[in-house]
Amino acid sequence: MTVMLGIDLAGRDVLMVGGGAVAARRLRRFLEEGACVRLVAPALHPDTALLVERFGLAWRPGRFRGSDVTGAWLVHAATGDARVDREVAERCERKRILCINASDGAHGSTRLTAQAEVGDVTVAVTSTVGADPRRSVAVRDAIVDLVGEGRLPLRRRRAGRSGRVDLVGGGPGPADLMTVRARRLIAEADVVVTDRLGPAAEIVRGLDPDVEVIDVGKVPGRHPVPQEEINRIIVERAAGGRRVVRLKGGDPFVFGRGGEEMQACLAAGIPVEITPGVSSAIAVPQAAGIPVTHRGTAAAFHVVNGQGRIGEGTLAALADATVTTVVLMGVAALDRLVAAALAHGVPADRPMAFVESGHTAQQRTTRTTLGRAVADAQVVGLRNPAVIVIGEVAAETLLLPSSDSIGAVLA
Ligand code: SAH
Repeated sequence: MTVMLGIDLAGRDVLMVGGGAVAARRLRRFLEEGACVRLVAPALHPDTALLVERFGLAWRPGRFRGSDVTGAWLVHAATGDARVDREVAERCERKRILCINASDGAHGSTRLTAQAEVGDVTVAVTSTVGADPRRSVAVRDAIVDLVGEGRLPLRRRRAGRSGRVDLVGGGPGPADLMTVRARRLIAEADVVVTDRLGPAAEIVRGLDPDVEVIDVGKVPGRHPVPQEEINRIIVERAAGGRRVVRLKGGDPFVFGRGGEEMQACLAAGIPVEITPGVSSAIAVPQAAGIPVTHRGTAAAFHVVNGQGRIGEGTLAALADATVTTVVLMGVAALDRLVAAALAHGVPADRPMAFVESGHTAQQRTTRTTLGRAVADAQVVGLRNPAVIVIGEVAAETLLLPSSDSIGAVLA
């Protein structure tokens, strides 16, 4: 039987007996934990010598003596000589000092675990049937992967003082287009504040029943929860010690008001971090096979909020045949945008595409041109959410082989 203890080595005296390569590896680990490490060895491997020099470790050159263990909380025997290691372990046993014995097959009173930090947990694995470090490492890595992907129940059951807010990008819809980090943060969250867009519905279904879910989803033209209220909700929950995930469609900093939420947290002294998401500005055109840049066709792309003022920058982008204009929240403003572009001299045959509900089962793409866009939007009944693409990349034939190259292939 082994009892695994989480021992805080910071500032504690640890003795390493041995100066070889194994000792160097273990020393690094103790040093990372902030231990005060001493060393006894007749000679040092270059790796160990480097650590002694860099960290100014106390090294007593010579063979192990019983008195070396005095004052240590933990002793590590790694002399490469099983007899000496055993002598060290026996000495520690008598003095009731924890001892790790690195000799093959032997265990001192204490074992090192295969350990890793992931999120805010430490995973440590050891074997109960004799040392088998490679197996322990493999098991540890598998657990770390699961934790990292948010597939283990990581949520804290006890409220602490570590309230915080994570502004998390959820991508355009499917949960498997979220980042691994987003999944982990959601698995750890006490409160999830969601929007209408993105993977919210699928994610909420998988949450523990006692996770508080607050839907502040906005429908264009209708704002059920004003932004100041959202800011207040996330700050207040985090100030009460809870871990808050503010889950947004796409990326939080692309027309997501993530900047304002971050400001609110910073102003209130709440720890806040941001996790990027796949933005619909790129991913939704892509879902319809439209690259926002394409060598020889589009060298830049301009992303604009269709509800906003049509500024000089947007008009310049529209007029430039080598720039793709990507319009979010543009359905209601389509007429206005098209009229402005035409008035600015953009040719009526400039290709356009509407991509509705990208990356969902309802995805629908309509190819049109600037001149026909308004009529075609009516015919198909264009609806939110949709991304509007204006530019040569929106031409249906862009990625198809040209008749010339088909000829070349056939020839
Ligand atoms: N932060 C988000 C954008 C929020 S603005 C992002 O980075 O993606 C909301 C607009 O995004 C919608 O009006 C629509 O234009 C677009 N949008 C988001 N998800 C979409 C989807 N799955 N399909 C089509 N458009 C989408």
